[in-house]
Amino acid sequence: MRTDLYRELNVAGQCGVCGRVRDLFELPGRPEKFCLECSADLATVIQLNTEINAATRKGMSVGALESEFSEISRRILARSQSADLSDV
Ligand SMILES: [Zn+2]
Repeated sequence: MRTDLYRELNVAGQCGVCGRVRDLFELPGRPEKFCLECSADLATVIQLNTEINAATRKGMSVGALESEFSEISRRILARSQSADLSDV
């Protein structure tokens, strides 16, 4: 996680992931604030992570959960890497 970058962006009142200036939302347990799009994706990966851990503990297959998890993670990462091109 690029925590330092997130902090910097947060000071400017921008989304902690994509760097766009938007209405920001807080996620429980996270110091950063995020736009609606990113907070929805992050909430989903946090939820998926919880489900994967629970399923793993029960010895269940997590293939579908993991592929969804990595797809959304990739989307978040792509958005954070395009933060330099933000429309600020
Ligand atoms: Zn965002």
